[in-house]
Amino acid sequence: MILRMVARALIAAALAPPAISSATPAPRSSPAVAREAAADTLWQQRVAYSTEARLDEAAQVLHGAEVVRYHNQSPDTLGVLYFHLYLNAFRPHSLWARTERRKEYDFGALQDPDYGYERVRSAEVVPWAAVGGGAGETSTAGRAGAVGRGRGRAGRGRTLEAAYPFAPDSTVVRFQLPRALPPGDSIRVRIAWDARPATLCRRQCRQGRHWDLAQWYPRVAVFDTAGWEDHPLYPQGEFYGEFGTYDVTLDLAADQVVGATGVPVSGDPGWKPDASSPDREVDYERDWYGAPVRLDDPGLLTDVAAAGRKRVRFRAEEVHHFAWSVDPQYRYEQDHVGKVVIRVLYRPGDLDWDLGAAARRTVRALGWLEGIYGPYPWPQLTNLHRLEGGGTEFPMVIMNGGPGQGLITHESSHQYNMGILANNEWKEGWLDEGMASFLTNWFAEEHGVPQPWSRSMEAAEAREAASATQPVSEPSEDFSDFSMYGAMIYTKGSIVLRMLRWLVGEDVFRRGMHDYYRTERFHHVTAADLEAAMERASGKDLSWYFHEWLQTTWTLDYALGDVRTERADGGGWRTSVRVTRSGRAWMPVDLEVGDTTVRLDSRDSSQQVTVVTGERPDSVILDPDGVLLQTDRSNDRKELRKPGP
Ligand SMILES: [Zn+2]
Repeated sequence: MILRMVARALIAAALAPPAISSATPAPRSSPAVAREAAADTLWQQRVAYSTEARLDEAAQVLHGAEVVRYHNQSPDTLGVLYFHLYLNAFRPHSLWARTERRKEYDFGALQDPDYGYERVRSAEVVPWAAVGGGAGETSTAGRAGAVGRGRGRAGRGRTLEAAYPFAPDSTVVRFQLPRALPPGDSIRVRIAWDARPATLCRRQCRQGRHWDLAQWYPRVAVFDTAGWEDHPLYPQGEFYGEFGTYDVTLDLAADQVVGATGVPVSGDPGWKPDASSPDREVDYERDWYGAPVRLDDPGLLTDVAAAGRKRVRFRAEEVHHFAWSVDPQYRYEQDHVGKVVIRVLYRPGDLDWDLGAAARRTVRALGWLEGIYGPYPWPQLTNLHRLEGGGTEFPMVIMNGGPGQGLITHESSHQYNMGILANNEWKEGWLDEGMASFLTNWFAEEHGVPQPWSRSMEAAEAREAASATQPVSEPSEDFSDFSMYGAMIYTKGSIVLRMLRWLVGEDVFRRGMHDYYRTERFHHVTAADLEAAMERASGKDLSWYFHEWLQTTWTLDYALGDVRTERADGGGWRTSVRVTRSGRAWMPVDLEVGDTTVRLDSRDSSQQVTVVTGERPDSVILDPDGVLLQTDRSNDRKELRKPGP
């Protein structure tokens, strides 16, 4: 996600008063302990959604039904299931409405029919007997890794009572299971619901016939080694989902044009390439998943589509979310990165999106990202123009407010950092947002953008100097406010990754990124996984680095003291430099004396360094690449006055 206003807000808030005490966090466990613990975390739950939805534009409501197959791969017996109903954030009484301080997002003031909602109409356990295999409500059919098997109409089952643990917020619903779900077993749950996005755009929207269905279906919350990640939705924090299969049939007005996660297995999504589209033939990729059989029948869409309606069935595998948008005016352009299809949906009058511009930028971004991580594993990436500004990422879909290269690169990077390497944004938001910001600037560096880091560095340095920081790896809900959240997880997070690249060297860092992706793709990842990959690539212990820069608010400042230059005995010039370091954090630092650069590795707070150069140096510069996050960079440079004639 990126907000149009984030950069401005970060700079404006850079000098806000410190919000936290300077208490020192407990040191993290050693890498060896962390790795041992990781052996326990190699399981993750599996889900499969069979979903149907009918969009009734006249009544401004989406009717939905889904059967979710949930396979418990954890070592725990589960007595409940939690689902997120995130459209309920965008209405009065939600936690979001009560905590939002920005006037432009006042969901508490919305009236019917402007507010959003997501109402569960019914929920039940579907017995496995209904598909002719096994008996009872749980099944071991999914042990092999797939989530259950068999196919059939969802029969009548045990009704599930809905409880809303954060009431009056209703973004989290808890269902008590009639019988607990033991490790290794699967359960099927059928949920019918009605929903609509708000007309006030924030990570979702509807206006006229354009619907951005970013959040729209009851989505099972993640259960991991920390338990249920049942988080109400509010401004800080965003995504965390279970990987699985989505088979989604949409019943739409016949003239609608739809962009979605996955591939259209059947039906007409309304894609007619514009004359300027780089590809002139639509590549639907209908056979990408073979001839997939839908596992369950949610029972909403009986018979065939009514007159003036159409049905489009999408399928996606190895994803943890499904998003879509419709607009009958959407124009379509298409391009390719190898076998990956790039789809662009924009609106009439979007003059900077057309003529292949947005398609080419998306191709450029994804092609570059494949070089950083590795091959993109999904069939397609759809870049669509949403109603809101800024951008938000979903598996195989980016919803963007504009066609700029920076925004496209940021959101496309989330296909990897979030989509495929699925961190918990409620706990380590920096791991995908800091990474997205870092990769966007890295892309800019390699594409001739002058000084892409200067604004971030200035804003972050001002915060460091004012102690207006919190640990970057703080849980999202613990940041004092949205601007602190943005400054730490986006800006400082990106700077920490840039410093790491400098510390280990770019070649090693690239190897580490490939390794991280190869080892962890389609997993829930943590900072420890990235650290382990970088340690394997560099052969160095980096635990001190991840601790200091992510888990503490320790600061760093290097400064130049006395500098003396004199002729060296054997010829050339001997320059003697006093370098001091203050603040509790440490990093090595480069010292540039004339045309010679040396790296200083001492942990002493004051060191005397002597550098011999052939020519008499004009200047002495600490951290000449400007890569270290310091509290004061004004004391890093001295010009050496040459003696008069
Ligand atoms: Zn982002």
